[in-house]
Amino acid sequence: MSTLLQGANLAQLNTSGLEPGGTIGPVDLRLEGGRITAVGSLPPSAQDTVVDATGYLVLPAPAEPHAHLDKALTADLVVNKTGDLMGAIQAWIAHRETLTVTDIRDRATRAIMIGVSNGVTAFRSHVDLGKGIGLTGLEALQQVQAAVADVAKLEIVGLIGSPIAGPAGADNRAFIGDAIAAGLDIVGGVPHLDEDSDGCTRFLVELAGTHGLRLDLHTDENLRPNSLDLETLSDLVIETGFEQSATASHCVALGIQSEATQQRVAEKAAAAGVSVVTLPQTNLFLQSRGVPVAPARGLTALAALHAAGVNVAGGADNLQDPFCTVGRGDPMETASLLVMAGHLTPDVAYDAVSNRTRQVMGLEAVTLEADSPADLLLIKASTVREAIALASADRIVFKAGRQVWPQTNGSA
Ligand SMILES: [Zn+2]
Repeated sequence: MSTLLQGANLAQLNTSGLEPGGTIGPVDLRLEGGRITAVGSLPPSAQDTVVDATGYLVLPAPAEPHAHLDKALTADLVVNKTGDLMGAIQAWIAHRETLTVTDIRDRATRAIMIGVSNGVTAFRSHVDLGKGIGLTGLEALQQVQAAVADVAKLEIVGLIGSPIAGPAGADNRAFIGDAIAAGLDIVGGVPHLDEDSDGCTRFLVELAGTHGLRLDLHTDENLRPNSLDLETLSDLVIETGFEQSATASHCVALGIQSEATQQRVAEKAAAAGVSVVTLPQTNLFLQSRGVPVAPARGLTALAALHAAGVNVAGGADNLQDPFCTVGRGDPMETASLLVMAGHLTPDVAYDAVSNRTRQVMGLEAVTLEADSPADLLLIKASTVREAIALASADRIVFKAGRQVWPQTNGSA
């Protein structure tokens, strides 16, 4: 069986300049065996399920590089009294002992389906591990991972509780072996919450290296000028010959460094092949809270990272929880913030929430040409800029050539 998308316009992203890339179309696309098999003027065949794509713009499906599905949709239950990162962490830690596998699984599934309805076909979620939560979150997200496999790929990062390094980290380290044995996909942690942040980064790089696992660290999520964990991570990736993919999420402090420091760190990240994930929603919410004059935006040094050739992806991070009480799980919202607060072009912003994120996750790029993976978003819009601006809810989503939204008979 195959699917024929008739009369679509295909977005052509320009990711290396200021001019918009434009569109081509109307054209037809045939999807078969998980891929685009033909693009052009295509007469329907007997095997085709025909979809009228008139008025839709076809884009590579977005992907979400940084979610916290175990925390999603708790904003009305868990109140962050100071509004900043430490207030969110304290409120969350007090609440999470009450969590059950069922509660986490149900909220995470709702969050995934919000994302799928917005076009997301691949998610990377962190999940708390350690004292007070044990492996409960991991067990819940692994159930979700299996249950949603037909509509979305889900990768799970084990977010090891802080502190991690030294004698003070023994309680949190105690859960790591069991989490890895349980099939954890990716090693995660938060070095800047450790008194010995360099020691913490080294421990996590060596842990992931020993077990052949990928790495995704919450990195420099603060506005301290001496926070340079991205540089430490990049140095350690090279020093230890780390062979898996390494990702640094947030990198907020890099945004307040001098231009010379930004350039030095960005070039090291590029040389080490470390991807950076910027998370405008949560960091605009958390950073500079209570700073009355000239508050920093909380985004990383996007221009320096792009100039150095770093793979920069964009994510939504927290979905209506104490770390960010709003957000609608829509990559168009993330892309819009990257245009407004990060000053990216719409084309570069959309690339960050789609193919750049797929690169973080080790997924093949979607090119909208024959033989491309058929992970596609069709959205009512005439250009990428308009798609981001209006964020129409009129969307059709395909994962591996199969329509996953709106749900049809046979959809999960
Ligand atoms: Zn996070």
